[in-house]
Amino acid sequence: SKAMLFDEGQKSKVTFADVAGLEEAAMEVKEVVDFLKNPDDFTKLGAKIPKGVIMIGPPGTGKTLLAKAMAGEAQVPFFSLSGSEFVEMFVGVGASRVRDLFKQAKEKAPCIVFIDEIDSIGRSRGKQAFYSGSNDERESTLNQLLTEMDGFETNSGVIVLAATNRADLLDPALLRPGRFDRHIYLELPNIREREEIFKVHLRPLKLNETIDAAYLAGQTPGFSGADIANVCNEAALIAARRKKDRVDKQDFHDALDRIVAGLEKKSKVISPEE
Ligand code: ATP
Repeated sequence: SKAMLFDEGQKSKVTFADVAGLEEAAMEVKEVVDFLKNPDDFTKLGAKIPKGVIMIGPPGTGKTLLAKAMAGEAQVPFFSLSGSEFVEMFVGVGASRVRDLFKQAKEKAPCIVFIDEIDSIGRSRGKQAFYSGSNDERESTLNQLLTEMDGFETNSGVIVLAATNRADLLDPALLRPGRFDRHIYLELPNIREREEIFKVHLRPLKLNETIDAAYLAGQTPGFSGADIANVCNEAALIAARRKKDRVDKQDFHDALDRIVAGLEKKSKVISPEE
């Protein structure tokens, strides 16, 4: 969700150290990094390197973060576009933007092209909900994306990563072999994974010694990684406003109260897990 509209091939500084609790996805993720770093290991045996990998999971589970971490670990440029903003902002020129993006990406290969919220361009017909652009526009953008993916050579060094919360809405054409035929599933973190994610986001904070990642993990069933990052930052903001020199338990409790209230407003269901 935080992906820029059009991230023009910067090197990513995100690494696997910034991502916690996604062991389930780890193997596929490492494979993508290997394809980018050591393509010859695969191609010399005649293997075709996958072109498209789709990450499927609820909001805030780290899809964007993981895409950037793959680019960071492989030390390749990262191009990105956000499906929803894309359709809204480039009315009439969606297809040519896609063409430009892939042209640049091919010049900078090996690299990653990341498409956030791909469902907003890749929704199948008949499943179109509210949407601000015209369907023709969306379709021509989608068609251009398919053309690009079919057009660039296997083993060109461009790997397209896409993210969605709603794989059920996707046009099956996108998931055909040679397109997004690899899937990485992300889930909301369990208590142990939340603890790991807390550790990542507590790391940069100045903390009172009473703060304990395991305790916070127990207080936050149903939270996504993004929610956890939010709690940690909110607690630090509260502590700063209170002129403290360390963030303490009270600050975390107040941050949690505030964020839980916000989540309830968004009518997000917090499941009584564990
Ligand atoms: P959306 O579906 O809303 O686009 P997303 O799955 O792309 O969400 P991100 O944008 O990657 O989620 O996550 C937002 C932020 O939440 C990250 O920048 C990071 O700070 C934090 N976060 C999410 N998941 C993790 C994780 N597994 N480990 C550490 N931090 C995480």
